[in-house]
Amino acid sequence: MIRFEHVSKEYPDGTKAVDDLHFTINKGEFFVLIGPSGCGKTTTLKMINRLIELSQGNIYIQEKNVSEYDIHSLRWNIGYVLQQIALFPHMTIAENIATVPELKKWRKSDINKRIDELLTMVGLDPKKFRERKPDELSGGQQQRVGVIRALAADPDIILMDEPFSALDPISRQQLQDDLLTMKKQIHKTIIFVTHDIHEALKLGDRICLMKDGTVVQIDTPEQIINHP
Ligand code: ADP
Ligand code: ADP
Repeated sequence: MIRFEHVSKEYPDGTKAVDDLHFTINKGEFFVLIGPSGCGKTTTLKMINRLIELSQGNIYIQEKNVSEYDIHSLRWNIGYVLQQIALFPHMTIAENIATVPELKKWRKSDINKRIDELLTMVGLDPKKFRERKPDELSGGQQQRVGVIRALAADPDIILMDEPFSALDPISRQQLQDDLLTMKKQIHKTIIFVTHDIHEALKLGDRICLMKDGTVVQIDTPEQIINHP
């Protein structure tokens, strides 16, 4: 599904952020990138949707080189969730979730159905939450909306960069549980960045352990626990 072939990134100031990444992420897999701050996780993630251009090597999505995709059609199919909640403050929750489906010209009735379905999936009663503004939600609730907004138009791939790290422990645990439930329902390819090993072991199908811009180990949680 997503294949890294000898990928390196050097920033203009000479910082070598990642070096010779070479691995494949399978379709439908929940793939966790983990490692200390500065090891290259965010750089790795952002090269997939070309928020960062790589310096050497190639990345393929469904056998097509990302550099050959038109940037809009590439990002069209990739949901993106960040640590900082970035809901549009002047829009209601429903309008926030509807933005990408509207761009894709989905029918109004389909969009409305989708909004209710997604809110329900993360335990937010649509009747109560659809018409609220983001500042009328708690941090954890806003982050839930951020996650489902990335899913709204049914992208094949979802990139998540420490989506829960700004949350209190309880909200964080609830969102992890939500994501586990979603993972079973939606069968998306998810690449998830974290520096929390418990989060990685709980959520990942496979965990990619990074250090100083290189891959140290890629294994299932069971293998990581047995052979750390
Ligand atoms: P993380 O939470 O992934 O550790 P950082 O705090 O390291 O994030 O970086 C946040 C953002 O700042 C990154 O997305 C990166 O693009 C940018 N950044 C990080 N280090 C540098 C740097 N040395 N020079 C310029 N920008 C940087
Ligand atoms: P992580 O997400 O694991 O914290 P990053 O991918 O953000 O790591 O950063 C990897 C390395 O690249 C770090 O040393 C960081 O300082 C550096 N870096 C990130 N963004 C930039 C940038 N825009 N310019 C220069 N160096 C950067």
